[in-house]
Amino acid sequence: MNTNCFKTTAVAAVTLLCIFTSISISAQTVDFKSIDTFFKIADKLSQNKNVKKSDWKKLYKTAAYQKLKINQSDCKDIREAMELTFLSKNKALCDSLLTAPYSTNDDDYYLKLLLRNCVNLAKNYDDVKNVRQSYDFEELKAQAIRQFHDFMPGVNDSVLSVPNIYFYFFDPDCYAIGNSIMLDFNFFYRNPQRITGTLAHEIFHAYRHHFLDTKNIYSNALLDVLDRIQDEGIADLINKKGSEYSAKLLTELGFPIDLEKRYLESVANCSDWISRLDSLTLAHLDGAVSYDTYKKQIYNLISSNAHPVGYHISQLLVKNGLKAKMLDSFYNPIEFVKLYNSIAESEEMHVFSDRFMSYIEELYSKN
Ligand SMILES: [Zn+2]
Repeated sequence: MNTNCFKTTAVAAVTLLCIFTSISISAQTVDFKSIDTFFKIADKLSQNKNVKKSDWKKLYKTAAYQKLKINQSDCKDIREAMELTFLSKNKALCDSLLTAPYSTNDDDYYLKLLLRNCVNLAKNYDDVKNVRQSYDFEELKAQAIRQFHDFMPGVNDSVLSVPNIYFYFFDPDCYAIGNSIMLDFNFFYRNPQRITGTLAHEIFHAYRHHFLDTKNIYSNALLDVLDRIQDEGIADLINKKGSEYSAKLLTELGFPIDLEKRYLESVANCSDWISRLDSLTLAHLDGAVSYDTYKKQIYNLISSNAHPVGYHISQLLVKNGLKAKMLDSFYNPIEFVKLYNSIAESEEMHVFSDRFMSYIEELYSKN
């Protein structure tokens, strides 16, 4: 999940965008099969009608879930969340699960998360179904493209693409998989405007990916980590309203409070985090830590796919008037780190060591 804007003011640019919009987005998929199958089963459960094994199978086999690569445990959680929510005989059990203590450490954490989302959806069930039928999803995509253009200067429209959208029921979040964005329908329903921003955020990822030296970046764990920081950090500027808001939103959406706390901690400890990345890298360079161990260590450092740290850094760059420079080099993580280092001291943040900086430059240029 996912605003400062560069405005595209030229009328010609706007006109071109409209032409582009009308040609390109119609080719994209908006897939409702999964959420429609969900509604059919939910209807049966609410009416105490028998749901056959083949009905569940049909749901699990929908393209959205296949793309999400849901496993047996996910299927079980989806079914339990739906049966607890929609079968009237389960009301007491459902209520007790909702009021039980809840944390990401719970064995049944995922079931509790899906259950919260399902119960929230069920509260507005008829309206959710109406929105599915009547919402102008083409306009949603067009708005997202406009938002991306507002943010990003000099967009090359020939490589801009809108991801396919797959709607389903799962956790209240969205995922980018290949050229697709996977969206929980209730997450969309609760705030369609937010989804415009989310889609613009994902358009940024797809656009950036087009320019990225992937062979190089993915060949080394450190480059990969720095890449994630830059990618999510800049993308978050498109659709997020500050770190505190992002953290609170997690709880509002039904995630356990420890996630909100962890997010805020990651932001508060950003400087320490960067210092740790620096020292782990130097230890590896000194031969004290093998590459495999080092790789594990730095991937373990990342929380929430590098969003909190990346977003914190990109906000600092904007605050220091470096937004244009940051966007000029939007697909080069080394430049992002250099920009960060240029303001780190004045922001009382850890300054990456010279050795670290030389190493990443060497890594980036040698592959
Ligand atoms: Zn993202």
